Amino acid sequence: REAWFQRLRKGLARTGSGIAQVFTGARIDDELYEELESALLMADAGVRATEHLLKDLKQRVKAAGSTEPSQVKALLADAIVDLLAPLERALMVGEHQPTVIMVAGVNGAGKTTSIGKLTKHLAEAKCKVLLAAADTFRAAAREQLEVWADRNQVEIVSQEGGDPASVTFDAVKAGKARGCDVVIADTAGRLPTQLHLMEELRKIKRVITKADGTAPHEVLLVIDGNTGQNALEQVKSFDAALDLTGLIVTKLDGTAKGGVLAAIALWSRDRAAQSGKKVIPVYFIGVGEKLEDLQTFNAREFASALLN
Ligand code: GDP
Repeated sequence: REAWFQRLRKGLARTGSGIAQVFTGARIDDELYEELESALLMADAGVRATEHLLKDLKQRVKAAGSTEPSQVKALLADAIVDLLAPLERALMVGEHQPTVIMVAGVNGAGKTTSIGKLTKHLAEAKCKVLLAAADTFRAAAREQLEVWADRNQVEIVSQEGGDPASVTFDAVKAGKARGCDVVIADTAGRLPTQLHLMEELRKIKRVITKADGTAPHEVLLVIDGNTGQNALEQVKSFDAALDLTGLIVTKLDGTAKGGVLAAIALWSRDRAAQSGKKVIPVYFIGVGEKLEDLQTFNAREFASALLN
């Protein structure tokens, strides 16, 4: 297997070691299920996803007539795959010119790094990319994005201390005028205290639509996989404000809380059932700090890395 997968596996070992250990005993009994419940909760799958997985697993065990803990482990992998598979989707660009991608996330989640990695992927696929540095509150964020733009030789619209909405508006207009394939707008993860982040982000979303009636085509949230249930809370609140279309989950190379993906999957599935909205996919996962460490999400790979 490739190096990145090993890194995911090694990272998720911290999440999964507790889970895998449950299956080292000789019998399938209540104790096994109780230990599994604790292990899933420890992995930050949350109460609902834990209950869902246990119920699903017991049905599978019954249907298969399994007698060995190792068989139960394989069935757990299947249950996890079924829950996570709806999160698999490829990020599509090309339907619009440009495809406008707005990216949000709290400071430190890995937003700027992920944008850099995504830019590289797109530039390699011969897409003409333009970056919008709409986090004008944090000089370091702008500078970091400029470094990424430089490294990937893509254009950037950035303005020291400018208004985030107007920088974004200019960038989308420029992207259209210059025939760009993709415009990626980085946004602030925190604002000076008297300003409200969600209001600011909603404003940025509105001006993107003003600059291009069909945009934004994607509203992505970057979450740090290390933050577990807190990441789920972020997904909920950013979705309430922005109507998210996708997620990037970073830092899965070193987390004991990878179970949160199960919680997100269950929440997203219920949201889709209640509102008729699409499931919010995980377009990418971050498995390291290097450029190639942004990978597409695959439920089977994730489950096997988790339970290994
Ligand atoms: P931002 O504040 O959301 O823009 O976050 P940054 O992109 O600056 O990232 C914060 C830190 O997390 C940096 O040190 C990154 O190198 C690191 N980081 C981002 N993604 C990953 C990842 O997938 N794995 C690891 N190990 N570190 C990451």
